[in-house]
Amino acid sequence: MTNPDVLVVGGGPGGAAAGYWLARRGLSTMVVEKKTYPREKACGDGLTPRAIKQLVDMGFDFAGHHRIVGLRAYTGDVRLEMPWPEHSIYPNWGAVVRRSDLDMQVAALAGKQGAVVASGVEAVPNIECGDLTSVTLKRKGHDDEVVTPKYVVVADGSLSRFGRKLGMQRRKDYPFGLAVRGYWESPNSQDEYIESQLAIKDRDGKSMPGYGWVFPLGDGQINIGAGVVSSFKGWKGLNTSQLLEAYVAGLPGYWELTGDSLVRAPIGGKLPMSLSVGPRFGRNWVAVGDAIGAVNPFNGEGIDYAYETGRMAAGYIADAIATGNPAALQGYTQELDDIFNDYQRVARRFVMVIGHPTMMKTFTYLGMRSRPLMEWALKVMANLLEPEERGLSERIYGAVERIVKIAPDPLLK
Ligand SMILES: Cc1cc2nc3c(=O)[nH]c(=O)nc-3n(C[C@H](O)[C@H](O)[C@H](O)COP(=O)(O)OP(=O)(O)OC[C@H]3O[C@@H](n4cnc5c(N)ncnc54)[C@H](O)[C@@H]3O)c2cc1C
Repeated sequence: MTNPDVLVVGGGPGGAAAGYWLARRGLSTMVVEKKTYPREKACGDGLTPRAIKQLVDMGFDFAGHHRIVGLRAYTGDVRLEMPWPEHSIYPNWGAVVRRSDLDMQVAALAGKQGAVVASGVEAVPNIECGDLTSVTLKRKGHDDEVVTPKYVVVADGSLSRFGRKLGMQRRKDYPFGLAVRGYWESPNSQDEYIESQLAIKDRDGKSMPGYGWVFPLGDGQINIGAGVVSSFKGWKGLNTSQLLEAYVAGLPGYWELTGDSLVRAPIGGKLPMSLSVGPRFGRNWVAVGDAIGAVNPFNGEGIDYAYETGRMAAGYIADAIATGNPAALQGYTQELDDIFNDYQRVARRFVMVIGHPTMMKTFTYLGMRSRPLMEWALKVMANLLEPEERGLSERIYGAVERIVKIAPDPLLK
């Protein structure tokens, strides 16, 4: 396919979903992925009900993959198991699927719709006077190929070198996440709950704004990881590998880790969040997923938002091509703002507040002592409120203020 209607740069969740929905609209679509499937990606492999919905919509086959009924949260010896809530749009289950399998299978679904999926191909933008004029495709052992698609989807992930060349930049005043994960063997890998320890502690016992997780894969292995947000003093000197080590050392005994349980050494990455990267589109391109910082600051979830933004971008590109009017792309950023601005603003505020260690302690202390409060928090953090439950900002700001006021004094010392 020399000149597809749309070239998608990156074959992770954002790119594969964009490819799927573009091809389904009948557009000639090429997805290029610089690595070769199955490719490894630093990730917790956790899929919330929002992500499940997107996958179901694309016809993903969950047979053989490990389903999850809810979240077990704990701090100290206080523990709460909370099923995923019932919802009018989203299913009440999640899953843990290795990214190496997940991304390959979703890319294959895009292929089934008619997209050409080429792995081992790196895309490099050609820019003249700030304008994207064509894209060079580089494949080892082959001559470079220059293509001039009508539109390009930038889905090249958190580092987004392609996007940076188009002038995209991350807002430095917004927080971002840092996380690391590895795989361990555990006889408890069939656990139906994902687990997280709130207010994870560093080696000196200081509470961090983030959490440690165990996401069971159901195949004899578990994904263990730790992540924090950059809203606390001293995050620049943080060693996430040491944070993970401390977390693994303190894991509950039922995971039954031994000295030989580690099967894959931990790797980490950045989580650009809160729609912190822009511009999100140009004359002939649209960016999605981590490339626009679409990760949810509340819980570090980015797979679903990459699917959602990829799908959304595909719709606006299809409109722009159908009408011959590139101005249709404006609708993409407008819809993102309409749907997510309010939520992201609250999430941003939340991570700034918990960057203060005493506030993190206060939230976990109070939350873990009230099941209704934690169930509500789970719904908010996984973005699973019903449409009529929105109007979040005022309620959450109010709740945050109330928690600060009623927090027992010793906690604030
Ligand atoms: C440690 C860690 C744990 C996480 N855990 C979770 C979790 O449990 N659940 C969750 O929902 N989210 C999680 N996330 C976030 C999630 O991984 C990302 O939000 C998600 O992968 C974003 O998808 P994407 O398609 O935008 O980018 P990516 O998944 O990064 O895909 C981008 C792709 O583009 C390719 N690419 C880059 N440049 C080029 C180029 N020039 N040409 C061709 N190809 C290119 C890359 O090789 C890559 O495959 C985690 C992140 C980290 C770091």
